[in-house]
Amino acid sequence: MEFIRDYADWFYLIGAVLFILTLRGLSGPKTAIAGNRYGMIAMAIAVLTTFFVADHPVIWMILGAMILGAIVGIARARTVPMTQMPETVALMHSLVGLAAVLIAIAAIIHNNKLVELGPELLAANGVSFHEMSKVHLFELFVGCFVGAITFTASVFAYGKLAAKKWAKTISGGWVKPVQALIFIAMLGFGIHFFLSGSMTSFWAMTALALAFGWVWIAPVGGGDMPVVVSLLNSFSGWAAAGIGFTLENNMLIVAGSLVGSSGAILSYIMCKAMNRSIINVLFGGAMGGAAAPTAGAGEQVQRNYRSGSADDAGFLMSNADSVVIVPGYGMAQGRAQNAVKELANLLKEQGVTVRFAIHPVAGRMPGHMNVLLAEADVPYEDILEMDEINSDFPATDVVLVIGANDVVNPAAKDDPNSPIYGMPILEAHKARTIMVIKRSMATGYAGLDNDLFYNDKTMMVFGDAKKVVEDMTKAINGTGH
Ligand code: NDP
Repeated sequence: MEFIRDYADWFYLIGAVLFILTLRGLSGPKTAIAGNRYGMIAMAIAVLTTFFVADHPVIWMILGAMILGAIVGIARARTVPMTQMPETVALMHSLVGLAAVLIAIAAIIHNNKLVELGPELLAANGVSFHEMSKVHLFELFVGCFVGAITFTASVFAYGKLAAKKWAKTISGGWVKPVQALIFIAMLGFGIHFFLSGSMTSFWAMTALALAFGWVWIAPVGGGDMPVVVSLLNSFSGWAAAGIGFTLENNMLIVAGSLVGSSGAILSYIMCKAMNRSIINVLFGGAMGGAAAPTAGAGEQVQRNYRSGSADDAGFLMSNADSVVIVPGYGMAQGRAQNAVKELANLLKEQGVTVRFAIHPVAGRMPGHMNVLLAEADVPYEDILEMDEINSDFPATDVVLVIGANDVVNPAAKDDPNSPIYGMPILEAHKARTIMVIKRSMATGYAGLDNDLFYNDKTMMVFGDAKKVVEDMTKAINGTGH
């Protein structure tokens, strides 16, 4: 044990390097598993080292919390369906925020208790005590309010993604002034706490930060939730780094900063993919979630579309030279990835060039489609990002859209009045033939109608993604090339 204490800084350094390698590993599908392993080792080193360097640890409490956390974590990890990962991630961020708030509260109450006991009594009992410095108060102030905002904002993001009734999007002229008022009051109380150490101000600041997290995220529309989740990921990292300063734990400062900056970079990349700015996402009001029909209010327009069977689609694809598959949320929902891989393999055997086109926000979480296709063992070289494949669509014989909607909606390019105008899309509409598998003409996540489905070149194939893809495979097997 003495050994670990003496070399704690070295252990932390090894942990920090491993965390950096983790992020590096996670940046590509081939190295992601190794990255995850580095992360696990780094976390084990961090937790064990901290366990041994802590002053007077209350062992049963720490072990009790760890065992309980491990039971809940393992049970959840084993049972959570891939489609519920985004809300699970949001819920985990909320716990980081809550931990930051609780640690800040504990640190302040602990400090106040020591002040109450007085330096003489403490010295007589061998407890060294230094009055909390201004820097320390500042760290607590920042850690606590960032943590509180992260907590309630993440709980809301969880509710929104899990479609809970209580997570209602709010809108109206009153929202921005109320946000501003709460924010200014929160800062005011925080500064007062910083200057005077007043506990009343500390509690008021914490309560206002909790309220702010909610009213800040509640107006954000469903379509923008992925950016919010990654931004909250970043926030939870900064809150953890703040606690690292409070607890004087270098490992936590490093790990928190890594999470904070990687989350910020991911938010930036996603905003770029949607052609939006962070400010516009957070303060531009709701985009998506609510239905926004293209027809005028009260006007019911009957539009014509063409539909065909899985057999027809299979025949067309087996006679094509090139097929691009565009997966979306429906492929995840229908758990169709393995069936899709079988179909792709069969087409390839028949000499068709088959590739997959991935939109950065397809599905319900960053990397959702990549994870599913990797799970089905689709070769990485067949999977292309939006920028790599968009120019190939005009020369593509068949685009097979499987449960994707918003990410192939041409309104993002052509309709300046559309709420998604400006968002980059997979330009499936430029292909020679488009086939769309979905269960109905219903809208996708952003609640918008999609002109692609009414295009002359488009054939709708209705049904559950897995069933339809399996039927296509059967049809191709039956007919041959
Ligand atoms: P969409 O949500 O736009 O559309 C999915 C389509 O799949 C629906 O229209 C639905 O139509 C169909 N579908 C659902 N279940 C099935 C099934 N079992 N079989 C066949 N079809 C099915 O998905 P996209 O992937 O195109 O776009 C993602 C959207 O989600 C974007 O708006 C994005 O901003 C948002 N988002 C993205 C996140 C991310 O990080 N990737 C996170 C949160 C939101 P029907 O009901 O007719 O079958």
